[in-house]
Amino acid sequence: MRWKKGTGMILSLCLCAAAFGTSCGKHSAKGQEERAGSQPGELAKEPEDAAGGPSEEQGQADGRQDKPAEQGLEDLRCQEETAADQDAQTALAGASSKIAEIKELPSYSIVDMAGWDETSVHALFYAQEISDEIYAKINGCSYRQNEDIALSELRYLRVLHMGMDGETRVGELIVHESVSQDILEIMEALYWAGYPIEKMRLVEYYEGDDVKSMEDNNTSAFNYRAIAGTDKRSNHSYGMAIDINPLYNPYVKVRSDGSVMVSPQSGSRYADRETDFPYKIERGGLCYNLFVEHGFTWGGDWSSVKDYQHFEKSGT
Ligand SMILES: [Zn+2]
Repeated sequence: MRWKKGTGMILSLCLCAAAFGTSCGKHSAKGQEERAGSQPGELAKEPEDAAGGPSEEQGQADGRQDKPAEQGLEDLRCQEETAADQDAQTALAGASSKIAEIKELPSYSIVDMAGWDETSVHALFYAQEISDEIYAKINGCSYRQNEDIALSELRYLRVLHMGMDGETRVGELIVHESVSQDILEIMEALYWAGYPIEKMRLVEYYEGDDVKSMEDNNTSAFNYRAIAGTDKRSNHSYGMAIDINPLYNPYVKVRSDGSVMVSPQSGSRYADRETDFPYKIERGGLCYNLFVEHGFTWGGDWSSVKDYQHFEKSGT
C-alpha cells in the first residue's frame, strides 16, 4: 500500500483559493487589504458603513483609532480564518470534482488515491439502481427477461480495489439489492487492508462466459446462469453470490471415479489447498472472515465439492 488509512488531507487538490468568497463579513481579506493602506478616517468608507451619517462614520473611525493594535490583530485572525475556510472549501470542491471524474472512469482504470482522506475514499464505494446504460450492456448477456429476478432487485456497485500490482483500481459488480450494503462494506474493508484483487469487471467483458472470466482471474457476482453441468440456477443468478480471485481459488470436484475436475482448468495448480501460494482464500483469512461476519457462507466449506472463490448468502 502506498498510503495509510486516515493520513493526509486533500490539500493536494487545492486549486485557486481566490475564486471563493469569504464568510467573514466586513472583516474580509479584501477589507483588510483596503485598511492596510488607509488612513483611519477612510475606514468609514466601507460599503456597510456608507449608509450611516457623518457623526456615526466619525464615531466608528474614532473607535478604531483608539484601538489600532487590537483591530490589527483581530483582522489578522480573521484573515487567517478566511484563508483556512477558503482552503477547506477549495479542497472540498477539488475532491468533489475528482470524485465525479473517477465515477465516470471505466472499471479496471488505475486511480491515484495518495493523500485522500477516508471520507473522500468512502464516496467511491456506492450502489446504484440499474441504469439504462448498464441495462443495455447486460441485457441478453448476463441478464435476460426471466421469472426469477427482476432488474429492480439488482444493484450496480462501484468500488475501489487494490490490484495485485499495488495500484488502486476501479471495480464494478452487480449484486442483489439485499446484499449490496454488505458487499460495499466488505470491499471497502478489503481495500483499506490492501487485500489484492486483480480485477473486478462485469462478465459482459467476457461475453457473459464465466469460464473466460475465471481464467482471467476476474472477480464477479451476478450472472443469470445455471450451475455448470446442471439446469439448476446458481446463486449468481440472483446476485447473491460472488467469486473472488477465481483463478487462484478454483472450483474443485472429485468425481466418483476419483478423477478431479477443476474450473477454471488453468487454476489446476491451485486446487491443492495444502500448498502455499498468494491470493489463496482460506478459513480464518481476512476475506473469509469479512464475508462470514456479513452472513455469507464459503464454497470452500462445502463437502461435496469445493468452490474456493465463492461466497454466497441465501434467501432473497
Ligand atoms: Zn461462484
